[in-house]
Amino acid sequence: MRIDLSGKTALVTGGARGIGRQVCLRLAAAGAVVIINYAKSSEAALSLQSEIGQNAGHAAGIFQADVSKEDEVRAMFDFIKKTYKRLDILVNNAGVIKDNLLIAMEQSEWDKVLNVNLRGTFLCSKYAAEQMMANKSGRIVNIASVAAVKCSRGQTNYAASKGGIVSFTKACAVELAPKGILVNAILPGMIETDMSARVRKRAGDAILSAIPLGRFGDPDEVAALAVFLSSDLWQSKSLAR
Ligand code: NAP
Repeated sequence: MRIDLSGKTALVTGGARGIGRQVCLRLAAAGAVVIINYAKSSEAALSLQSEIGQNAGHAAGIFQADVSKEDEVRAMFDFIKKTYKRLDILVNNAGVIKDNLLIAMEQSEWDKVLNVNLRGTFLCSKYAAEQMMANKSGRIVNIASVAAVKCSRGQTNYAASKGGIVSFTKACAVELAPKGILVNAILPGMIETDMSARVRKRAGDAILSAIPLGRFGDPDEVAALAVFLSSDLWQSKSLAR
């Protein structure tokens, strides 16, 4: 069974690097027109845009916006509405870590992580849902983390943000399902990206021994699931029978 997203438009936040990059590549390969959101990585976004243009046979868009800032998020969704006329898929992938022990944690470290991870997911979902409601269909996929349920030292801010995303996802799913918009979350374990590089270097062997597969996850494995959840495949009649 092949996933066909032809005619669909998809926004991936933090799409220029890591897991988000793989999500963009897989969505484009499935036929979707992808808008790559980035905050700082303009070169990586441009390079991915050109890679998708060459390989997928259709152009990708890029848009710089800090997902924690409402005016920038609003401008991004205005751009999508004006340029593409519709939005079918949102992957809330943008995220940051700022680890510190609780008693040493600065309010700025708490706020940064909560603002990008949780507020960013809220803002993008809000503006996406508004556009999706017009078509009575849509898919929102939130990249949470296993940290939402299995917590590590030094990650009170990150765990709170990801736990918040899990609850937010459930509440959105209840509210938006009657409008034809399906909302899901993915809780990846440790994946080989820039975000986990320092921890993998410092405690890699100890972490690996606790992973039954004996290896870290590949960003493309998360992307495959994100694209599956963005599709109609998992709720098609043939699959349900
Ligand atoms: P990464 O390689 O560090 O990439 C993070 C991405 O988030 C970048 O594309 C970055 O864009 C974007 N971003 C950060 N702040 C942003 C902002 N204010 N506005 C818009 N985009 C912003 O990390 P990753 O591992 O791919 O993480 C992707 C998601 O997976 C995150 O939500 C993370 O929490 C989650 N996750 C990761 C792991 C893991 O082990 N790696 C495990 C579980 C969950 P710029 O470079 O343009 O700033």
